[in-house]
Amino acid sequence: MSYVSDVMDKVKSRDGHQAEFLQAVEEVLDSLDAVIERNPKYQEHRILERITEPERVFMFRVPWIDDKGDIQVNRGFRIEMNSAIGPYKGGLRFHPSVNLGILKFLAFEQVFKNSLTTLPMGGGKGGSDFDPKGKSDNEVMRFCQSFMTELCKHIGPDTDIPAGDIGVGGREIGFMFGQYKRIRNEFTGILTGKGLNWGGSLIRTEATGYGSVYFAQNMLATRGDSIEGKVCAVSGSGNVAQYTVEKVNDLGGKCVTLSDSSGSIYDPAGIDAEKLAFVIELKNVKRGRIKEYANKFKNVEYMEGRPWGIKCDCAFPSATQNEISRTEAETLVKNGCFVVSEGANMPTEPGGVEVFLKNKILYGPGKAANAGGVAVSGLEMSQNSQRLSWTREEVDQRLETIMKAIHTQAFNASQEYGAKDNLVVGANIAGFVKVADSMIDQGVV
Ligand code: NDP
Repeated sequence: MSYVSDVMDKVKSRDGHQAEFLQAVEEVLDSLDAVIERNPKYQEHRILERITEPERVFMFRVPWIDDKGDIQVNRGFRIEMNSAIGPYKGGLRFHPSVNLGILKFLAFEQVFKNSLTTLPMGGGKGGSDFDPKGKSDNEVMRFCQSFMTELCKHIGPDTDIPAGDIGVGGREIGFMFGQYKRIRNEFTGILTGKGLNWGGSLIRTEATGYGSVYFAQNMLATRGDSIEGKVCAVSGSGNVAQYTVEKVNDLGGKCVTLSDSSGSIYDPAGIDAEKLAFVIELKNVKRGRIKEYANKFKNVEYMEGRPWGIKCDCAFPSATQNEISRTEAETLVKNGCFVVSEGANMPTEPGGVEVFLKNKILYGPGKAANAGGVAVSGLEMSQNSQRLSWTREEVDQRLETIMKAIHTQAFNASQEYGAKDNLVVGANIAGFVKVADSMIDQGVV
């Protein structure tokens, strides 16, 4: 039995009930055969056993009082997965589906993603099964304060620096930052995605969406093509989806879909700046449903389910994990889609990935394509420690350069290890080698 399959079996026997974690580990380990074979040191140092086990996991009670005066109890988590190349870095997710397995999958992905950004950041992830939907601002604040009352014991500007993810935007980051400051009496960069008046970076809000479009642009450039004139299907309507639409528009493409957990809209005329402003207000301020878009604008279709049946050139899945099945991937390809750039984490099921690779479309896996968010978080940390802020143009320029570097590393690694231009293999290998070599340098820890 090979070293890789031996380790996979061990992970399965230990964490067999954590389906998403197993899926993420399997996808990475499957691509590492060539690199492990060429470098026996990784087996000698038991790197795969160590890299699949978090350095530390915190799980805690989050009690808070709702508007009726009743006590509610949620569960909080922080996974500190790997700190070989820098302090733990990765977002917080507030969603009822959150559990240990989902956060471990996200933390594991984050390790390789952060390595690809070229910045010194380890990998972590956290969150809670709290659902901000339908809660008042005061309820969200009380929850965030209780969550941070425990989390503040484990994070710090040189230790672990969380950010946002699903259900955690500017409002939640603000409440958590305020509580950290109050308890610790320190104004330090312990979270990224902060408000611009109190240490945030320009372009952080936009970074994941912009980055995923830059990544698509880099993939298209390998075929002498660009986003200009492309019809794009986008899923989700939150942070990542919103700024994907904005950047596609900037580069001369047209986005025709958005979605939320209830359904999708199809707007053949395209989601222009004015319609996007409506979506941003609807989702970030009114906290309404995407269906309202179809009531507001003419000639828009609303359908239940996901948008992958719509004909498009490029797809930007930007909602959540496993949102493109094998059948949906087949439909996309059959309808002429030839670019998929993943804004979300692990949005394509393994069968769907197989379809994309078999059909040789330009496929950018999440850990490469959506790394722009954490990259600008890294830039926010640099600005915080220097106590200065860079201009919008400067940050955007750095983001564009980093996304190009990520594409180049993944592309080159795929060539070097005989996987042609398979960016799944390339991103996994390029992300892995840097972390694995650093772990060896630092001894058995
Ligand atoms: P938001 O909370 O801002 O938006 C999430 C969007 O996805 C909403 O439209 C939401 O719909 C929809 N969604 C969430 N869960 C589901 C589900 N189970 N089924 C269908 N739709 C769903 O999150 P973000 O935009 O920040 O994150 C989106 C994805 O991007 C996630 O996979 C996240 O991990 C990834 N990501 C985010 C980064 C960031 O910087 N924010 C960085 C890198 C990756 P509804 O409103 O109905 O819940």
